[in-house]
Order: sequence, then structure tokens, then C-alpha cells
Amino acid sequence: MGLIAAARKGAIVDAAFVREWIAKVSQSMQEQREYLTQLDAAIGDADHGVNMNRGFSAVMEKLGGVESEDPGEILTVVGSTLISKVGGAAGPLYGSAFRQAGKALGDGSELDPSRLLVALRAGLEAMQKLGAAQVGDKTIVDAFVPALDAWQKELDAGGSPGSITTRAREAAEEGMRSTVPLQARKGRASYLGPRSVGHQDPGATSTALIFAALERVAGSS
Ligand code: ADP
Ligand code: MG
Repeated sequence: MGLIAAARKGAIVDAAFVREWIAKVSQSMQEQREYLTQLDAAIGDADHGVNMNRGFSAVMEKLGGVESEDPGEILTVVGSTLISKVGGAAGPLYGSAFRQAGKALGDGSELDPSRLLVALRAGLEAMQKLGAAQVGDKTIVDAFVPALDAWQKELDAGGSPGSITTRAREAAEEGMRSTVPLQARKGRASYLGPRSVGHQDPGATSTALIFAALERVAGSS
């Protein structure tokens, strides 16, 4: 059994799993570039899809030259690359989240959904430290927080990596949709005041895509 097959079958998340996740995120950002950019055109400056696609293309290029079998190190590289390659708010925000998640994983080639959750929580914390957004501010945080809460709940219920990541993706999408009626209180969209109401937040949407990619990697376990 190959490494990826092993990751899918059991509760093991290794470097191959993380690489496949990031490759799927990159593919999704490419496919959804126009969609994300259109969402940003309504309440921002029409570059979120371009930013995310550029960032994850750079990440894929960078990872091609990284031989590490350490999932934490791979995530750290993802974060640092996003920080250095993406202009706009989302680059540093996602970048610090991935970087901190990588650091929180620490050494070791294998991890399970509970360790990955701890790392993602550290990532969310870093993002909130940098951006100071809370749930309800119409940002990435509105999808990220419910996704991790759902992850925890399904983990506690004894779920598999597949069911855990499915619940997380569903909650991220619900959080994404919940941004529509909100008025933005952080980021560029907040400059619009009440005119930001009635539009789905681009960053919450890219977060839902990131969790959807994770579900597709873990999904068959
Ligand atoms: P910019 O706003 O600089 O053009 P992007 O268009 O790439 O950057 O990203 C916009 C997204 O960034 C928003 O839709 C929002 O979800 C997210 N965002 C902005 N500010 C914050 C913040 N302080 N915390 C979390 N997410 C934020
Ligand atoms: Mg923008």
C-alpha cells in the first residue's frame, strides 16, 4: 500500500497526504479563480481569485523543490510562500495560518485528525492575532471557526477522518453562506459599510474550498 492509500485507509496523515491536500487546493484555486474574483469585485477590488491562484501556484512550484517527509515542515513552507508571494490581505492571513499550523505540528512524519485539529487551531489563532477578526465580521474567520468546531464535535463522536472532514467542509460552507447578510467589519469590504450586505465574502469562500480539498483527500477513509 502506498503512503497516500495508507493515509486514506487509517487515521494516518503524513507528508504525502499534506502534499495531496495542497495540490488539490491549488487546483481548486485555479478552477475557481474567476468565481472568487467576481465575489471580490462586488465588495472589494476584484483580485481574491487572482491572489489565491498566484499564491498556490507559487506554493506548488516551491514544494517541488522541497524533499521533506515532515508534514509540519511542508505546511510551514506553504505559509511562508503565501506570505512572500501574495499581495493583499489574504496572503499574509492564510500564510500565517499555514505557517503556524506547520510549526504547531512539530516534528514527526505521521499525525492523526486530533493532532491536525490542534495545528489548525494554532493556525486560526495566528490569523486572528494578525487580523483581529471575530465570527460575524464577514471574513475567512466566519468559515474557519465553525469548520474547526464541527471537526472537534465529529472527532469526539468517534468519527473517521472521512466523516470529520466532511462535517468540517459542511460547516465551512454554512459559515460561508452566513456571511451574505452580514455587514463587513474587517478588511477592504468594511469600507463599503452597509453596502457590503447581501454579498458572500470571498475569503470565507476560499476557506470553504480549502476544507473541501481536505475532504477529498481524506474522504475515502
Ligand atoms: P485584499 O482585500 O487586500 O484585496 P483579498 O482580496 O485577497 O485581499 O482578500 C479579501 C478577503 O480577505 C476578504 O474577503 C476577507 O475574507 C479576508 N479578510 C480581510 N481582512 C481580514 C481579517 N482582518 N481577518 C480575516 N480575514 C480577512
Ligand atoms: Mg481583494
